Amino acid sequence: MKNGKCPKCGSKEVYCGDDVHPKSGPFGSNSIPVSLTSIAALDNYVCTDCGYMESYIADPAKLKEIFVKWRRVS
Ligand SMILES: [Zn+2]
Repeated sequence: MKNGKCPKCGSKEVYCGDDVHPKSGPFGSNSIPVSLTSIAALDNYVCTDCGYMESYIADPAKLKEIFVKWRRVS
């Protein structure tokens, strides 16, 4: 999706909302809980042909926190 191509329908009409403010909305919307005291804002990529959306965490500090605190899927 970050390469500008929709993985679902193959369209190149992919748009990124990473400069939409506020990054994190009221009550933590557009973010995910990382721990009890930490949330990570999401950058959303949307295909305007089929509506498919992917979300990414851009903040490297949050990614490190997840690396330390979350259960690794194996
Ligand atoms: Zn699509």
